[in-house]
Amino acid sequence: MNFCSLYSGSSGNSIFVSSKNARILIDAGLPGKSIEKALDSIGENPKDIDGIFVTHEHTDHTKGVGVLSRKYNIPIYTHPLTWKAMMSTVGKIKEENIRIIDTQCVTIKDMDIISYMLPHDAAYPQGYAIHCGNKKFCLATDLGYFSKEVEYALKDADAILLESNHDVEMLKFGPYPYTLKRRILSNVGHLSNEDCGKAILSILGTNTKKVMLGHLSKTNNYPELAYQTVVNVLTENGVKLDRDIKLFMAKRDMPSNYIEF
Ligand SMILES: [Zn+2]
Ligand SMILES: [Zn+2]
Repeated sequence: MNFCSLYSGSSGNSIFVSSKNARILIDAGLPGKSIEKALDSIGENPKDIDGIFVTHEHTDHTKGVGVLSRKYNIPIYTHPLTWKAMMSTVGKIKEENIRIIDTQCVTIKDMDIISYMLPHDAAYPQGYAIHCGNKKFCLATDLGYFSKEVEYALKDADAILLESNHDVEMLKFGPYPYTLKRRILSNVGHLSNEDCGKAILSILGTNTKKVMLGHLSKTNNYPELAYQTVVNVLTENGVKLDRDIKLFMAKRDMPSNYIEF
């Protein structure tokens, strides 16, 4: 399997995941043109995308979903409550391309996609675990805390994209209004750098070797700080970088490393 974060952060998110036979996007939160450009830069064609899985209705995850579905006839997969919350903003979608996920598992060619709930302030936010053969990729961004359900879902994943949204001090002393600070710090907001490090510690198993940090705040974080905070938490607890785990950074405005596992 492979995954590539096309864009990641408060300004828009989209992740490409592929197996031998299937290609999917998780979220498409930028204009369709931006997603086309990113796919092109990693040698992929939007025509070959088998489905767009939407985590939740916030526009940084849905902005390009409607355009891509219409232009390339791509099915949209999401929870019924998320669909209800996003349908007025995505424009007209062909009936056959609206795929409501009311079971926990969806199969696309050689991929099994299993959903789990994320603690976030949206209608029904979901993360996705993509299984293919004995390989597993998981996504967990937009989560206020690392819940037991998420921990369980991410255990033993070969590769993970995990949120490292903000530095708590930068957020507290930064320019955001008080209510927004409260929201981000709450149990249905976003995961801090420190909590991201602790989350990785709790799931480090025999399989989990590749973790990418993503969904960084533009205002309350910067990549070096996110990376170093997570590294500090890990090394203070005896984890050896590159031996026990390889860390990557998702980029805000362009595709990250193409990760094979
Ligand atoms: Zn969100
Ligand atoms: Zn988001």
